[in-house]
Amino acid sequence: MKNKLNDFKQEDGTLMSCVFPGGYPVYYYNERQDVFCANCATEYIDEILGGTIYYAGPDIECEICGEMIESAYGEDSRNENID
Ligand SMILES: [Zn+2]
Repeated sequence: MKNKLNDFKQEDGTLMSCVFPGGYPVYYYNERQDVFCANCATEYIDEILGGTIYYAGPDIECEICGEMIESAYGEDSRNENID
């Protein structure tokens, strides 16, 4: 169950807010599907089930601190033509 999360763990034990290469934003979720930013996911890591690279969609809000998490390509998922 922790395997998915290990992909997002950094050497210092905190969770990354975006992945490299690419710099895609990541959000985290618990079993209620609440959204956590990287900072809050690190703080509540025992609750976190996994992380998701957020490619496209509207901004989502961290359940804990209210920070907005933007998707990589914004709301319009059809436009993936960036470089
Ligand atoms: Zn947060």
